[in-house]
Amino acid sequence: MNQKNPEHQTMVFEGHSYERTRKDRQDLRGTLLFFDESGEHLLRKVPGFPPIKRVYRLKEGIDRLFGNDPFWTEEKLDGYNARIFEHGGELLGASRGGFICPFTTEWARIWAEDGKLKKFFRENPQHVLCGEVVGDNPYNFQRDPNLAPGAHFFVFEVFSSRGQFISPEERYALLEKYDLSGVPVRGHHCKAHMDELYNILRDLNRQKREGVVLKGQKGERRLKFVTPSTDIQDLRDTLQVGFDMDSGFFFNRYLRASLFVKELGLDRNEYAEEIGRAFLEGTPELNDFTESSERYVIHVREKQTWERLRDLLKAHVLIKCDSMHPAKIHGRHMVEVHFRRVYQKSSHRYRRILNGHLHQD
Ligand code: ATP
Repeated sequence: MNQKNPEHQTMVFEGHSYERTRKDRQDLRGTLLFFDESGEHLLRKVPGFPPIKRVYRLKEGIDRLFGNDPFWTEEKLDGYNARIFEHGGELLGASRGGFICPFTTEWARIWAEDGKLKKFFRENPQHVLCGEVVGDNPYNFQRDPNLAPGAHFFVFEVFSSRGQFISPEERYALLEKYDLSGVPVRGHHCKAHMDELYNILRDLNRQKREGVVLKGQKGERRLKFVTPSTDIQDLRDTLQVGFDMDSGFFFNRYLRASLFVKELGLDRNEYAEEIGRAFLEGTPELNDFTESSERYVIHVREKQTWERLRDLLKAHVLIKCDSMHPAKIHGRHMVEVHFRRVYQKSSHRYRRILNGHLHQD
């Protein structure tokens, strides 16, 4: 906690002291503030990433948000949200909550070695790249099996020096100029193209991809819409740790999957079976249950990066490291770390359930 402002938390990373905002106030939660040595003068603000509102019905949602106006259809990638920026001549990577993350920072520096990130920040020092980190990472274990080992970064927004998103078209041009990877763009549409949009979503669903984010011309209006394949996968993967989730987690996914199947005219029998199977497979087996946990694999250059990351993560959840061994990733010698996030409430509840304890409903 910060003495002057209890809604700010003072943090230190590699000698950089900064404050992160803990709540949405004047600044969004997860904003980072860098002050000068006196602590009086703000040197740099890295804005928090704003939430994206969801629609449950695509056609009606588009009508309501965009009317007849055109929008860009981008793929929604499923990893974790990161902001990469330069401060004091160093590349830094922050998580959604506004923590400078040792893992993201180390990988940002690797991506910089392989591409033009450094050049980008030399020429745009006050910009912030916002993107999804996918692949092997410590925040989302549901990785796309088609991706090469290691972590990968796809930009989906850019904050300008004024702290505002640049428009999608400016972003696409900037990414092309610096040869940086962006999220896949599936076209420029308007509500008259509903059939094409439905086809894109059916295709993403078939490929078990997460969905789309639609963005207005200036990037000011945005909505997200996800496929049932992701929702069903989430149900299967999360039931094991379900007692640690918000109560709406499951209901929302059932609802979304069900409405999607109806709106996009998918085969109801097929989905009835899929949803049922996910539920059956998601709950623990009756024997040999030990704990409710998620398994992660990550790659770090230094063992110390893992130790700093573990310290950050363990403030929220129990972390158990299973193994560490050398691995060659992106042509580099790295350390492969296998660890688990252990969810104690779910572990305890399932243990009692599976051992036949009596419950009062
Ligand atoms: P929110 O970010 O809206 O508060 P959330 O944290 O639960 O919600 P999601 O529901 O997964 O996250 O959806 C929003 C997130 O999707 C963004 O924060 C971002 O990390 C991710 N994302 C993936 N692809 C894109 C994209 N093309 N444009 C914007 N965000 C994207």
